[in-house]
Amino acid sequence: RAKRAGGGHAFFNAEHDRRTLAEMALLSGMHRALERNEFRLHFQPIIHPISGEVTAHEALIRWESPGGLVSPAEFIPLAEVSGLIIPIGQWVLREAVRAAARTLRGHIAVNISPLEFAQPQFVENVTRVLCEEGLEPGRLMLELTENSLIDAHRGRDVLRDLRALGVRVALDDFGTGYSSFSALAGLPVEVLKIDRSFTLHLGTAGPEGVRAAELVRAIVALARAFGLDTVAEGVETPIQAQLLTDLGCTFLQGYLFGRPSPLPAAAGEEAVMPAM
Ligand code: C2E
Ligand code: CA
Ligand code: CA
Ligand code: CA
Repeated sequence: RAKRAGGGHAFFNAEHDRRTLAEMALLSGMHRALERNEFRLHFQPIIHPISGEVTAHEALIRWESPGGLVSPAEFIPLAEVSGLIIPIGQWVLREAVRAAARTLRGHIAVNISPLEFAQPQFVENVTRVLCEEGLEPGRLMLELTENSLIDAHRGRDVLRDLRALGVRVALDDFGTGYSSFSALAGLPVEVLKIDRSFTLHLGTAGPEGVRAAELVRAIVALARAFGLDTVAEGVETPIQAQLLTDLGCTFLQGYLFGRPSPLPAAAGEEAVMPAM
């Protein structure tokens, strides 16, 4: 406490070292997780609010580490900067496509990191996985963020190749980034995903609720102008679901309809049994 300035500097370094050590531990943990098969996929239903039908599932990664469950919010960012997202993403894609081919009905939505999307062999990889697992390309939906399209060299061309293949693309976390709405909506994509941060305030009293409703209204109008569907994330209450439906949102996703969960074990085992 006496030598405040020097102490502050030392504290900063100690804090920095602690972070680096924690990141190194997390990195080696992720390597081990790949080797030992500690990653799991959970699937969350996406529903059509008018018919109540489950039309799709989003695949969300989970890490069952020996020390307990680690959230993707904790390890995906480090996987991205370290490049480990490439093998992890390949595992996710194959596992998700396999689940859709064997067990799940409807579309399967898979999150793709900017680094994965920027790989020169990205479309080739997607094509191979679809082919090897026997899934129609039209049942796969790739969820990209606007960062993918900004970072990627020739991102627009890759989107066209995906469309030619018949794979669908959603812009994830739509409206949370810095790109102009019109620039993003002019891209060859099929779906805009309305981020949970908008859904969260819907139906609440005060200016935040009003602002959220206006933003959702604007996104839905924009989507319609470009012939796109909308999926609202993070729907937790019947009031949110009603407001989103009234605002013209096409599909809903959130704890109200189902949490992300593993495939039913029985169905999974049944599906991998060879046909008699
Ligand atoms: P995201 O793509 O925006 O996914 C939606 C997140 O909201 C998921 O968190 C989901 O579990 C959560 N969620 C869904 N409905 C509700 C709800 O009603 N209330 C609340 N409070 N949360 C809800 P999760 O599974 O923790 O994933 C966090 C983020 O990690 C994802 O955000 C995505 O960016 C990333 N991620 C997850 N799985 C993968 C993956 O396989 N590959 C890549 N590249 N990223 C992934
Ligand atoms: Ca997503
Ligand atoms: Ca989101
Ligand atoms: Ca996201």
